[in-house]
Amino acid sequence: MATIRRLHRANYQAYLVGGCVRDLLLDRTPKDFDVSTDAHPEQLCRLLPRARIIGRRFPIVHVRTATACTEVTTFRRSPHPKGGKLQFGARGEILRDREYGSSVEEDALRRDFTVNALYYDPLEDGGILLDCLGGMTDLHRRQLRVIGVPTVRYREDPVRMLRAVRFVASLGFKLERRSEEALSRGAQQLSLVRPARLFDEAFKVLSSGHGEHSWPLLQQYRLLERLLPDTQRCLNASPVTEEATQLINAILRDMDQRVHNGQTTSISFLYAALLWPVIRARQAMLAQQGRKMSSAQLVGETMARQHESTHIPRRFALAIEDILRLQWALNAPRSDRSLAQLHAFHAAVHLLALRAASGEPELLERSAWWRQIAKQTPAPPLRRYGRGVHRSGRRGNFRNRAPHSNSGRAQTDDRGRR
Ligand code: ATP
Ligand code: MG
Repeated sequence: MATIRRLHRANYQAYLVGGCVRDLLLDRTPKDFDVSTDAHPEQLCRLLPRARIIGRRFPIVHVRTATACTEVTTFRRSPHPKGGKLQFGARGEILRDREYGSSVEEDALRRDFTVNALYYDPLEDGGILLDCLGGMTDLHRRQLRVIGVPTVRYREDPVRMLRAVRFVASLGFKLERRSEEALSRGAQQLSLVRPARLFDEAFKVLSSGHGEHSWPLLQQYRLLERLLPDTQRCLNASPVTEEATQLINAILRDMDQRVHNGQTTSISFLYAALLWPVIRARQAMLAQQGRKMSSAQLVGETMARQHESTHIPRRFALAIEDILRLQWALNAPRSDRSLAQLHAFHAAVHLLALRAASGEPELLERSAWWRQIAKQTPAPPLRRYGRGVHRSGRRGNFRNRAPHSNSGRAQTDDRGRR
């Protein structure tokens, strides 16, 4: 509100836009607030004391207060030239999509879904809502409709397919027919997305608090086979299909509960847990052939294959590897309490407990013992794995935990941030 007031005083247009307007109209609490304006980023920085320019493809301004961060974007123009053809770069990405626009009407056209293109000015005449593209009708019909031609818009930015799944699952909307048809055919375009962005966006879908509902949609639209191909294969047909299904349901249910309880969620924990069935399937196949592999080899091989679909940033990859390898260490006959000092300990115990409760009941006793120890051991603070931090802090093959830690959080290594 303060941001909008300041912009108005300086004679700029400024509206709340996107998910916050949509959610307020649906009587839901918005996750964050986005503002759209005709002021350019440098003008915003001069006007708003806490403004900072970020953004890789297009400059966005973040305005931080003690409790929240508002994202302010300058009106943009749709990249579709009038009467002309879109131009694509070598990787299939759209070119010329970085031009400023001058009006709400122009800005609305470059947004993803009609219900995300509602603009609200809370200060003008006691509140004005602008709806240029029929977003209100779709909102009342509880329908998610892509703005423009869906095949083109998904190709322009394939992440919109993941956003579609996220909104269908979290809002309980259905996809409009053409938007759905294009989604069913578009999955292979996910390979055009920068792998680190894909990794992030996939986490957003699964940690939206509606992961259990999103999962079958990701499978139905064949997006999962792009995001987690080996996990998808395990679920299709493998010696551990039944066990994998049980474990994944338990993981997603647990994740949703955590989000609804306001607890932290961990991207590394989630990926480790979703990759665990892949390791189990590989172990089972090796056993059939009378072969064995070390835990380090199994984890290394699984991670290397996963890296091919979504590149996992190093700080997360290290944590995922530790959580996975601890599954053996926690279950070894001579394992001792000193494992509780490791940074990945709490997340690893949590995964062990979910395994025990779903497809691997033989772990129940071990898991109960480790959970007792985890309760007595404070969880380390949320901080990043990665270069520098752990170089001198390794214990055996694992990364040690921070010397001071008392945050009491159950899953600990990171957070999914926008
Ligand atoms: P959430 O509740 O998750 O915050 P949201 O719709 O607000 O949902 P944001 O990522 O905060 O999602 O984006 C804000 C707005 O920016 C969206 O509502 C949409 O209008 C626009 N937007 C975001 N990502 C895209 C995209 N990939 N393509 C087009 N428009 C987008
Ligand atoms: Mg938002």
